[in-house]
Amino acid sequence: MSDVRKIAPRKRIALVAHDNKKADLIDWAEFNKLVLAKHDLIATGTTGKMLEEKLDRPVKKMLSGPLGGDQQIGAMIAEGKIDVLIFFWDPMEAQAHDSDVKALLRLGVAWNILLACDRATADFILTSPLMQQYYETQIPDYSNYLKRKVTR
Ligand code: PGA
Repeated sequence: MSDVRKIAPRKRIALVAHDNKKADLIDWAEFNKLVLAKHDLIATGTTGKMLEEKLDRPVKKMLSGPLGGDQQIGAMIAEGKIDVLIFFWDPMEAQAHDSDVKALLRLGVAWNILLACDRATADFILTSPLMQQYYETQIPDYSNYLKRKVTR
């Protein structure tokens, strides 16, 4: 049986945008400023700085994504410290830190958090009534994996 994580009405939302997608994310965040005000925001360094300036509110800033920020947010997801990941990654340009991008997306799915990679999905998440409520989400059960026999 998998465990349940109770997500509070005040969600912990991580925001990350690649350079070509930053304008899109900042515009989306400004449009949704009032809703976002009800939640805690965490972001990679540059995205966070831009969000703070535009929204005029504090954002918890990690390192810049390519310098370890993606991995810091990935670690927070694994530790159950992020409820929602809004990740506008660039589908048209390879990134120097592509392996970090893949790792972040992988951890988002591995830990069953809310995950939007485009504006339409981000809109649907933000307008869900569940954003204002407690929500019980399944924590995937990896106990069999942890108990596996590894032959030496
Ligand atoms: P940045 O990182 O917000 O520091 O630019 C984003 C990314 O992971 O590319």
